[in-house]
Amino acid sequence: MPDFKPVRGMRDLLIEETKQLNLIISNARKVAKYYNYGEVTTPIVESHELVSAKSSDEIRNRMFTFQDLGDRTVALRPEFTASIVRLVTTVLKKAPRPMRLFSVGSVYRYDEPQRGRYREFWQSNYELMGSNRPEADAEMILLTSYLLKSLGLKNYFFKVGHIGIVKGILDQEQVDEKTQKEVLHLMDKKEYAEAFSQLKKDNVKSVLQSLVEVKGDDIFKITEEMRLQVKDYSKAKDAAINLIEILKLVTSSGCSIDSIQPTFSRGLEYYTGLIFEVQVPELEISLGGGGRYDRLIELFGGISTPAVGVAHGLDRINLALQIQGFESGDKKIKKIFVIPISEDLRIKALNIAEELRNSGLFVELEVMGRKVGKALEYANKLKMDYAIIAGKSELKEGSVVLRNLIKHEQTTVKLENLLKKIQE
Ligand code: AMP
Repeated sequence: MPDFKPVRGMRDLLIEETKQLNLIISNARKVAKYYNYGEVTTPIVESHELVSAKSSDEIRNRMFTFQDLGDRTVALRPEFTASIVRLVTTVLKKAPRPMRLFSVGSVYRYDEPQRGRYREFWQSNYELMGSNRPEADAEMILLTSYLLKSLGLKNYFFKVGHIGIVKGILDQEQVDEKTQKEVLHLMDKKEYAEAFSQLKKDNVKSVLQSLVEVKGDDIFKITEEMRLQVKDYSKAKDAAINLIEILKLVTSSGCSIDSIQPTFSRGLEYYTGLIFEVQVPELEISLGGGGRYDRLIELFGGISTPAVGVAHGLDRINLALQIQGFESGDKKIKKIFVIPISEDLRIKALNIAEELRNSGLFVELEVMGRKVGKALEYANKLKMDYAIIAGKSELKEGSVVLRNLIKHEQTTVKLENLLKKIQE
């Protein structure tokens, strides 16, 4: 037999890992509920044309792309935004705005596998379409903070930027699209000298240089200084003012922003305004990120619609929780193992198990026909709380033996008192 293993970059999530992922997913759903995002489910397989239309080269070159049997070029979705924009420009074209949509599921990128970087990973994704106001931008940061806080994550911090500042300068200086893309990409990677060498005019280089050099702890002072530096570039100045408004809204709700990154572009070509990422000190990779993309819907053939969104990397959130010593806070529900002593008591044992399940307990029934000793060994191995041993003589009296597997004690209990005794 060949040695079957998951394909490189793919992982099996075993019971505990799946439980952990599901807990994060259920918190993400809770966030969607509280902020009133409707959940939609879109296909994992999308047309290559759709998912490659407006993502960055970085993502485009790392897609799982193949021909299906009908000779269509398809790809596994590398993110959710393209699918959501497809909905908004087609079946949801006439739905009332603003539209808040939530999705959760796996996405696929041919990244180099390492800690926190996989080829199949999970994201929760929130998109708010129809509003160009800073309240909508602020909501992306606030709901991200809500999610991380609800999971008990500590010391997470936000890095925030605004693509409109640098783009506003480059547009006004009539730098062509291709050069703009190159400059933004290099500045995002902090390769400033290389970025500036793409530009012809010294005044453009110097204003960008001065933006890069703005430093300090006070985010409002920094943004104000940026605003002054770009005062001769009307669109860039508006972008700085927009960023200040967003920051005011976010911080007034008690969420702190830790740094302003004037040259942030996050590798996705479609951003037009706010851009942000969230991290924890223990990991150098981001747990989530998002921003404003006001032109994407139009580029996909829809009616011009401003939009803002965020995607959270659930595997990385999980990793951060593990590193910080995660406590699930999951109320411990008692686990019970029901063992019939003989074949003829199977029905009675099954009835007891069903009744306890209906009362909210986690109950497993012995289904291997094992003797009590062997069955108890198994229950102990699985760290169950109680075993209920259904024997003929006890059942005749309307009772069973209740064994506390933690304290190694057992008593005979009337069936009607069983639940009360377990819950004591
Ligand atoms: P993006 O869609 O690139 O904005 O990414 C959003 C989030 O997805 C990031 O902040 C990460 O938390 C997560 N992410 C991106 N790439 C990977 C990967 N290869 N493995 C695990 N998580 C990832």
